[in-house]
Order: sequence, then structure tokens, then C-alpha cells
Amino acid sequence: MIGQLIDGTAIAAKLRAEVATAATALRARNIAPCLAVVLVGDDPASAVYVRSKTKAAREANVDVRDHKLPATATQAELMALVAQLNRDPDVDGILVQLPLPAGLDSDAVIRALDPAKDVDGLHPVNLGYLAQGRPVFSPCTPKGCMRLLREVGAELSGARAVVIGRSVLVGKPIALLLANANATVTMCHSKTRDLPGETRRADIVIAAVGRPEMVRGDWIAEGAIVLDVGINRTAEGKIVGDVAFTEAAQRARAITPVPRGVGPMTIACLLENTVEAATRRRGG
Ligand code: NDP
Repeated sequence: MIGQLIDGTAIAAKLRAEVATAATALRARNIAPCLAVVLVGDDPASAVYVRSKTKAAREANVDVRDHKLPATATQAELMALVAQLNRDPDVDGILVQLPLPAGLDSDAVIRALDPAKDVDGLHPVNLGYLAQGRPVFSPCTPKGCMRLLREVGAELSGARAVVIGRSVLVGKPIALLLANANATVTMCHSKTRDLPGETRRADIVIAAVGRPEMVRGDWIAEGAIVLDVGINRTAEGKIVGDVAFTEAAQRARAITPVPRGVGPMTIACLLENTVEAATRRRGG
């Protein structure tokens, strides 16, 4: 390892502490920031995510209301719950855990959220604000990536950034946030002709693909900063990212590991968005 290891666990803990301070200040004014978490069905991975979100929220002085619906819930039942949470004056943020069970339309559910409570930043209104360069709630993993870049002192203005992946959840919002920060952004995907060549020109590489160790060390320019969003489970049950870490770390100036890199930032940013939502709605 030659480059700096970006310790996402430590940076996320620092952000959660900042959020806790902001939440405590709101409570002193009788505003209790509150996140409603909606879990439909019994997907074990989703249940684990929801449990860790709930624990982190409580530790950050953010109230959590868990709403569990059975896998047999209908679209109408889910929409009715969202409408009820939209109306509830004590709820600041609504998180609908994705993916939803087959047969439920997640796009329709996201569109039904009150944009002022859309702390995942996935409502078209919030993605629109982000595209306009004046984000209200940025999606949590992309927001976490930007914080990591800031923490390592990345010079974004004028930097060449390559984002691999163009999903609405990760790749596209990261590319928009980087462009808003004056980076020159190339968004790559499965049809990109020369991915190693594109990546080699980059000062900043962000991989959000979902393919174990696809990005090799010799794709990375000397001194680049590398963020690995990917979470992949190998046949041996090990969790690895989209970047071949050991190889890439020989050339990168700074690089996130997987796990304990980008991952912990997602929940911390969700809590940050929730406290921001409470402040906007109720804090003046
Ligand atoms: P998606 O499957 O929605 O998107 C993957 C993207 O990668 C697509 O744009 C796809 O291109 C592109 N891609 C696929 N194969 C290749 C290839 N061979 N070369 C170049 N690009 C390729 O995934 P997500 O964006 O939702 O997630 C990406 C990864 O990030 C996953 O491993 C996921 O588990 C992880 N993740 C981690 C989070 C965290 O908190 N750390 C949060 C969310 C996700 P195309 O559009 O052409 O199909």
C-alpha cells in the first residue's frame, strides 16, 4: 500500500457526531428530527440495512419510526402509508427501503413522496434541483462520496473525473455533484469503448458498477484519487469492491477500501439529510 487509505468508518463517525450536535440543537428548540423507515417484505439484506439505519439514527439523536408491511402488501396499501407519512407533521424524512418485493412499483412510490421529506434524494424534483446545480437533498451515497473527497483535500475544480456507472441511485448523481463542483466529468458505462483508457486519464475515479475488482491497478493514473462504491460478494463469501484494491493502492494518492470505505457514509448522509429536512421544515 503506497497511497493514503481513506477511512470511511472514521469519517462517517465524524459526520454522525456533527449530525448529533445539529439534532441536539434542534431538540433544544422542541424540534425532534424524525425519520420514518418503510420496510416491505422480509428480504434479509434489507432488514439488516434497516436495523443499522435505525441504530445509527438513535445514536445521532434522530427519532425513528419503523413501518413494516408484509411482502403481500399491495401498491395501494404502500401508497396509503406514504400519504399518511407525508401528512404527519412530526415526520421529517421518509425512507422507503429498496428494492421493493416483485410486483410493487418503486418509481410510483418515490414519485408519491413529499419532496420536502425525500431524504434519499430520489424524487424527480430533487434530482431536478441537483441537475440544475442547486441540490436540496442529494442522494446519500453520492453525497457521501463528495464528503470523502473533501476530507482528503481533493482539488475538484478543473479535475478530470471518471465515474463508472450511470444508475439513478449512484453514478448519475455523483457525476452531477462533481460537475457542480467544476470537475470535468466523464460518465462511463457498459457501452464505453475504452474504459481503461478513459480511467487512465482521470485525476479522480469513482467506480459504481457491481463487478468484483473490475478496475485494475494499471487503469489508475499515478496520484489519482479512487473511490470504490461497489459491494460484491465473492464465491468464498468475501466482500470486495469494483476496484482491485491492492493493485490500485500502489498507484493512487488516496483510495477507499471495501468494506469500511464509501459504505458507512451512506447512512451518515441519510441522517444529515434528515436533520436538514427538519431544519428546513420546522427550524426556520
Ligand atoms: P446498477 O446495476 O444500477 O448500475 C451499474 C452501472 O454499471 C450501470 O450504469 C452499468 O452500465 C455499469 N456497468 C455494468 N457493467 C459494466 C462494465 N463491464 N463496464 C462499465 N460499466 C458497467 O448498480 P448501482 O449503481 O445501484 O450500484 C453499483 C454498485 O454500488 C453495486 O455494487 C452496489 O452494491 C453498490 N452500492 C453501494 C452503496 C454503498 O452504500 N456503498 C449504495 C448503493 C450501491 P449500463 O448503464 O450500460 O447498464
